[in-house]
Amino acid sequence: VRVTFTPILSREKGVTGAIAVLQDITEQEELEQSRREFVANVSHELRTPLTTIKSYLEALDDGAVEDPSLAKRFIGVTRNETERMIRLVTDLLHLSRLDSRNAAIQRVKTDMIEMLEEVADRFSFQLKQKSISMRIIREAGVGTASIDRDQIDQVLDNLVSNAIKYMPDGGNIELSARLPEAGIVEIAVKDTGIGIPKKDLGRIFDRFYRVDKARSRNMGGTGLGLSIAREIVKAHGGTISLESEVNQGTKVSFTLPVAAEGSVTA
Ligand code: ADP
Repeated sequence: VRVTFTPILSREKGVTGAIAVLQDITEQEELEQSRREFVANVSHELRTPLTTIKSYLEALDDGAVEDPSLAKRFIGVTRNETERMIRLVTDLLHLSRLDSRNAAIQRVKTDMIEMLEEVADRFSFQLKQKSISMRIIREAGVGTASIDRDQIDQVLDNLVSNAIKYMPDGGNIELSARLPEAGIVEIAVKDTGIGIPKKDLGRIFDRFYRVDKARSRNMGGTGLGLSIAREIVKAHGGTISLESEVNQGTKVSFTLPVAAEGSVTA
């Protein structure tokens, strides 16, 4: 319930009373509220890199362009900021497609272990750069699941790139697949990184929520990776959850039905 007080003012006597309005905030209003917050967030997230780009361009214009090494650095900054904005807009488009359910799931029967091995291959260069080791753990019996391969790859890429981003050099990542119950496969990405404080865990899947904005931004993060992952997993009929301990590491697990009812499998 939302309560608003409006004072009744009289020119001679000042405040003579008040009107209290008790409103039942319906689901519709909550939706409207979250939509407003979302637009405000998007505007802010786009405005920040634009402001940076503008100031560096101004500095170049004011003479920095004459100094080749300074000019190179400033142009580098504007390029990075531009790339971050492109990533942000790409993530936003992706989210809006997931929201409007236009992204019909194209299920294909996929071998879960092969899929995890391919994730490890995609990240092998980054893992080597940070001396991070990666292990794949498979529970007996894990086979295939009917999934939208592109979308689940996106989930895995988001989770693994987080594990790498929020981990000091030399850590470990475990990718695992198990069968918690009949007809359900659970995939997990576990790291030995910086972890997430308890107080942040409740909001970690919210759009734009980050534990440390500056750190995420420096790492090229958009604050949308986990919310995109959640939308995709939900669309597959699964659930996603995160456990974390500061300075110990983080584990993100998600479930997928092995065979979705009524789906066409290839
Ligand atoms: P970002 O683009 O900022 O990485 P995400 O939605 O992917 O956005 O993640 C939200 C926030 O959750 C991150 O900013 C980071 O603070 C925290 N986070 C996500 N994954 C991990 C992880 N594996 N270890 C530590 N912190 C993490």
